[in-house]
Amino acid sequence: MQIPGHIDPVTTGTVPLRGGNRIDLIGLTRDAIGGVLVEAGLDAKAAKLRAKQIWHWMYHRGVTDFEAMTDIAKAMRPWLTDRFIIGRPTVREAQVSSDGTRKWLLAAADGQEYEMVFIPDADRGTLCVSSQVGCTLNCRFCHTGTMRLVRNLAAGEIVGQVMLARDELGEWPKGTMAGFGPDPEDDEDDEGGNYTADGRILTNIVMMGMGEPLYNFDEVKGALKIVMDGDGLALSRRRITLSTSGVVPMMARAGEEIGVNLAVSLHAVSKEIRDEIVPLNRKYGIDELLKACADYPGAGNSRRITFEYVMLKDKNDSDDDARELVRLIREYGLHAKVNLIPFNPWPGAMYECSSPERVRAFSNLIFKAGISAPVRTPRGRDIMAACGQLKSAATKPSRAELDRIAEEKQAALG
Ligand code: SAH
Ligand code: SF4
Repeated sequence: MQIPGHIDPVTTGTVPLRGGNRIDLIGLTRDAIGGVLVEAGLDAKAAKLRAKQIWHWMYHRGVTDFEAMTDIAKAMRPWLTDRFIIGRPTVREAQVSSDGTRKWLLAAADGQEYEMVFIPDADRGTLCVSSQVGCTLNCRFCHTGTMRLVRNLAAGEIVGQVMLARDELGEWPKGTMAGFGPDPEDDEDDEGGNYTADGRILTNIVMMGMGEPLYNFDEVKGALKIVMDGDGLALSRRRITLSTSGVVPMMARAGEEIGVNLAVSLHAVSKEIRDEIVPLNRKYGIDELLKACADYPGAGNSRRITFEYVMLKDKNDSDDDARELVRLIREYGLHAKVNLIPFNPWPGAMYECSSPERVRAFSNLIFKAGISAPVRTPRGRDIMAACGQLKSAATKPSRAELDRIAEEKQAALG
């Protein structure tokens, strides 16, 4: 879609199909699944019933094989297998950090690569999901921003990350399906086991992997609608956070149409510094951005906006910066919390992380003003899985190369 006042960053393009001529059902809405079944020859009523059954098997049970869909007539299963697939991204590499964080390098059907990260904690398990291969933006402290090749991920590739994570974590429910009896058209009932709604490992999703999710609005929305669907993954919108670097024209729609928590990558409180480190600021400035935060649908005490703030030594980490941050939050009447992220280094980065004392002092100043400002513990740094370290081709470009990429992206921003 065209973003007002902005050249359309990238399109999804035509992604070659994983299953040859077969249609991949991952990422389609329930109605769209019904639609492809009708196109394949089923009548509308049968298609609707089958779509409901297939949806439940796909998203509630994690099944990828039509033969395992035991409430669908046996004769129908090969017919489905011939025409459709339920795909997953290909795992190119899987790594585990010493702190338990896991990172997967994934490949799409066209060979494009992107990463996803799982961060286990005592009380939750958070999946960090990518929305694009690379990023058209070029925040100066972010490794992903140095990637030249960019394409949007399709809804199926976004929701596919969640499906794959649940496969890898082994947390699909097993056994018979609650509320789904045997197929009335089938004479055999080959169900077995008991369904138990066991405790979840993957409890939260953050759209904080590679890419700018609001530059890929439609696909991200489609994917998150599936993730939130009650008869499937059924994750509450309160457990999902979308992070944006500040694509102001799309923020209201994100609130209205997706309705998840919003995190905003603020990172600086003056035009001069934000222009430098988050170049999108030259297009949508701090004032516009904070107004959009104040207007974010549902923004109130119950749904606080999170400001992400990367701690860069001698760049944005002074006491004055902290005071200005508090002043801005008050001026715009925001119910916000601030997440302080110690800068995570990557090869060729030109910043350093603020000292732990500086980070603490910065955090204390904000806390004293009554605004929560926890310091995020870096996770998975040893496998380059921490915030801003994701990049699918592990090369170390020269400074000149990095500057060239930055210039190209800046020129594209207009
Ligand atoms: N593109 C979106 C979401 C992905 S990045 C966005 O920018 O908001 C998730 C968070 O990590 C963002 O706040 C981003 O600015 C931050 N980040 C990027 N590079 C980082 C680095 N090297 N160290 C710490 N945080 C970083
Ligand atoms: Fe893109 Fe976010 Fe990285 Fe900026 S911080 S370059 S918007 S992924």
